[in-house]
Amino acid sequence: MKALRCENQKLSVAEVPVPEANGEALVRVILSGICNTDLEIARGYAGFEGTLGHEFVGVIESMPEASASARASQPGEPSLTVGLLTPGDRVVGEINAGCGNCELCRAGDSRHCARRTVLGIVGRDGAHAEFLKLPPVNLLPVPGEVSDERAVFIEPLAAACGILERVSITKDTRVAVIGDGKLGSLCAQVLAATGAAITLFGKHPNKLQIAARRGIATIVIDKANPGSGKFDVAVEASGSPTGFDLALDLLRPRGILVLKSTFQGFTKLDAARIVVDEISVVGSRCGRFQPALDLLKQNAVDVESLISEEFALADGVQAMKRAAASGVLKVLLRP
Ligand SMILES: [Zn+2]
Ligand SMILES: [Zn+2]
Repeated sequence: MKALRCENQKLSVAEVPVPEANGEALVRVILSGICNTDLEIARGYAGFEGTLGHEFVGVIESMPEASASARASQPGEPSLTVGLLTPGDRVVGEINAGCGNCELCRAGDSRHCARRTVLGIVGRDGAHAEFLKLPPVNLLPVPGEVSDERAVFIEPLAAACGILERVSITKDTRVAVIGDGKLGSLCAQVLAATGAAITLFGKHPNKLQIAARRGIATIVIDKANPGSGKFDVAVEASGSPTGFDLALDLLRPRGILVLKSTFQGFTKLDAARIVVDEISVVGSRCGRFQPALDLLKQNAVDVESLISEEFALADGVQAMKRAAASGVLKVLLRP
């Protein structure tokens, strides 16, 4: 099969064997999405070598005999998702695969399992390929009304939902989101669904438009930003070090700074300001998929507008270049 590989910091679309399922589910990929993390990995972040990609929608090709996948609901999921998954079902898949034995895994949440692998990021070949494999417990069925083009956004959307696991946000919370890229736009939309007043800060009026059309207040970042010292929570999703400074400007004393971007290398942070203003700093990475699937089902978020372009998997290297170009949002790959 074809796979977009990163080896010795070199990208290529290679012919590789279809993964051996070995007790896991084999999934035929319908669409995969290029994430900024893929671009960072190609630059050497996380030291990953192998098939890139962790955002996908696919169809189950085969399931392991024993499991027949009676999927139990997991902590943090609003509803029971017990169902039998069988070959032919359209699915998305959570990207952290735990050891299955530690306390965290036994409690149904492998996101911080010390021995986890992560699809296309840590020790596990990813989704920019014709096939991938994941433990059956990671897979969730995609409701019929959610198109492939929307379902492929489930992972970044879940990452945005993950903020709500880390910070309590009510309709009275004043939230600033910094960054008008894919992540910032999704964070703003997910947080707006709580009823809270969200203001999205960005540099590109055309990108801010996507959130503005959903009724979210948007502000173009310039020298004198209104709203300094006014926000209870600031979400840094710009991936740019200057986003930190802006976040600290915007927060009220004892506000909460949520960090969503994984920067490569170190970032300068004004620690004295955090002490003096008694800011709480909260990291946030992956979220559960079910709340994100519910948002897609309810049409509560606009993800289609974030699609810039679709490439054939065979043109994956070119697609990665395109995804790194300024002004480009989501680039999709179709095997
Ligand atoms: Zn991602
Ligand atoms: Zn574990």
